[in-house]
Amino acid sequence: MKRSGKPLFLAMALLATAPAFAGDLPHWSYSGEEGPENWGKLAQEYGLCNTGKNQSPIDLSGQIEAKLAPIQFAYATQATEVINNGHTVQANFAPGSYLKVNGHEFELKQVHFHAPSENRIDGNSYAMEGHLVHADKDGNLAVVAVMYQEGRNNRAIEKLWQQMPANAGDKVALEAGLKAGDLLPAKRDYYRFNGSLTTPPCSEGVMWLVMKHPVSAGKAQVEHFAHTMHHPNNRPIQPTNARPVLR
Ligand SMILES: [Zn+2]
Repeated sequence: MKRSGKPLFLAMALLATAPAFAGDLPHWSYSGEEGPENWGKLAQEYGLCNTGKNQSPIDLSGQIEAKLAPIQFAYATQATEVINNGHTVQANFAPGSYLKVNGHEFELKQVHFHAPSENRIDGNSYAMEGHLVHADKDGNLAVVAVMYQEGRNNRAIEKLWQQMPANAGDKVALEAGLKAGDLLPAKRDYYRFNGSLTTPPCSEGVMWLVMKHPVSAGKAQVEHFAHTMHHPNNRPIQPTNARPVLR
């Protein structure tokens, strides 16, 4: 896949379940020969995983003070279904939830999770990380990352996990009525940097918005997710190179 000219396809790829995607491109995983060190060699389309200079995740350290304007969240809709695609557990949202940053509007598509966290903040890893994936009308992506630290049970996670499909490839309609806003921390200060998808094809040009304040999740909730995935599903930290991380 060429990077240029097909941003909409990227958004679709992110939304696709594994079986729909697996027909076109080689399988990848988080360890062994199909693991992150080899993603770039598995297919020409995954080349940026090896050669990209703006890859995610990163360690967010040495941030630059930029007095970032608040993100305007206009989340109005609920998650409609939960999918286990073998790489993560993902909930898709009904259309109509937006955020605005830098005067630019993105629509929320889905949230999915990684354990342990992919990004680090000042060297610190977290028990889990949620990625709220948004796309603008041209298919450009913005991801809001929420860190989970072990503590009290998380009610939003509970709603998702109670219907989390145990087997890869399964999808269920979500009955619990999870609002998008319930996934965000109360304080929404954030870090911003330019990065990529953290899974093949590792496409760049993704705006990353990482919440400074973590939310809590119960130990058993984190373990439930890890057990369902059967393995850690975090890509290792990538070089920051010349990129500034703004705060
Ligand atoms: Zn992710």
